[in-house]
Amino acid sequence: MLCPYCGDEMDKGFVQSVKKIFWTRKRKKIFWIPDSSKDDIIISGDMNGWTKEAYLCKNCKKITIDLVND
Ligand SMILES: [Zn+2]
Repeated sequence: MLCPYCGDEMDKGFVQSVKKIFWTRKRKKIFWIPDSSKDDIIISGDMNGWTKEAYLCKNCKKITIDLVND
């Protein structure tokens, strides 16, 4: 995968956690519980376990995750 910022080849790897991984608009005090009514998006933690394929750009220090495909 090419980096969408600089165009260099990204390194394939994984993000992992002992808890569900999800994206949320605002920080939560109880951060391990995603709330689908507030547009929280689960990255990993249901069907796929707690590991999700991700790509790292070492130049930009950015990680890209495809939420649909593994
Ligand atoms: Zn980059």
